[in-house]
Amino acid sequence: MKVIEHIKQAKETIFSFEILPPLKGQNISAIYNSIDPLMEFNPPFVNVTYHREEVVYKRLPNGFLEQKTIKKRPGTVGICAAIQNKYKIDAVPHILCGGFNKEDTENALIDLDFLGIENVLALRGDSMKGETYFVPEKDGHAYARDLVSQISRMNEGKYLDEELQNSTPTNFCIGVAGYPEKHFEAPSINNDIEKLKEKVDAGAEYITTQLFFDNQAYFDYVEKVREAGIQVPVIPGIKPIATKKHLSLLPHRFNVDLPDALVKEVVACADNKAVRQVGVEWAVEQSKALKAAGVPVIHFYSMGKVDNIKAIASAVF
Ligand code: FAD
Repeated sequence: MKVIEHIKQAKETIFSFEILPPLKGQNISAIYNSIDPLMEFNPPFVNVTYHREEVVYKRLPNGFLEQKTIKKRPGTVGICAAIQNKYKIDAVPHILCGGFNKEDTENALIDLDFLGIENVLALRGDSMKGETYFVPEKDGHAYARDLVSQISRMNEGKYLDEELQNSTPTNFCIGVAGYPEKHFEAPSINNDIEKLKEKVDAGAEYITTQLFFDNQAYFDYVEKVREAGIQVPVIPGIKPIATKKHLSLLPHRFNVDLPDALVKEVVACADNKAVRQVGVEWAVEQSKALKAAGVPVIHFYSMGKVDNIKAIASAVF
């Protein structure tokens, strides 16, 4: 079933979460171990991230460096199929512009369609390590908006080859990303929201937000999004802070501000066990307030820390 249908049918706020494919070499039980403990909270869908290839350097015996392009976390599509098969819930694969040309995208979508996957989160992806700006593939998409358009066209039965006869329409519900504190490349929040509207006009049916630690940032964002004429659901994304290192890593990687009160509490912690407790309590308060405000879904970024998400969900759902 489509995410948007789950939202329409739900009588109260839905619990959902995102998982990462395991590092290459691990088996599918690593995924099941991060889903099993959360099934008691009845997630109707689970997102699975996509990780594009990375350039790595290996030093050779002669001192030269060998450049290799590898995927450290392959398996998104297989994991989605396994989740739908084992848990009978919907999987939402993330699909990127980065690393795909239009033909690759079309073929990936055909695979997903054949597997009975009805949802995708359409994203641009970040620049490759070592590149300052995102560089699309030759004949690939530069912005998520254009990826959304391609998926929407396939939903109308329009494939790249216009001469295809009797082509079957796909039936994907398309989600896109939104940034309450602005995407780091956008010149202003209003400009970012204008671009967000282009994604919705191209066929996106809901928005999932980047993580945030101050609910006011989300509420203000939703207000601006509505003022811009965007009517689709805006799903808040929550991640509990878990280590002292997160104080610098999260703002750097996700362009988010941490409220002073949270920073002070984390700084005062004796160790990361105490930080984890602070992070869980903060996320519980955030989630309770979001639920009280009637948000459609609370989407948790688990990043492999399933115990933290379970502790939060136990207090909220
Ligand atoms: P876009 O919507 O294309 O926007 C990118 C930037 O370009 C923004 O600054 C926007 O304002 C600007 N822009 C958009 N359209 C135009 C235009 N027409 N002209 C000029 N500027 C424009 N990354 C992964 O690699 N794998 C994942 O699985 C993954 N999952 C994610 C899940 C969520 C919920 C979120 C919020 C992010 C996720 N990301 C993931 C990160 C994401 O790929 C990056 O944030 C990326 O930098 C932007 O992706 P986007 O889809 O928001 O891009």
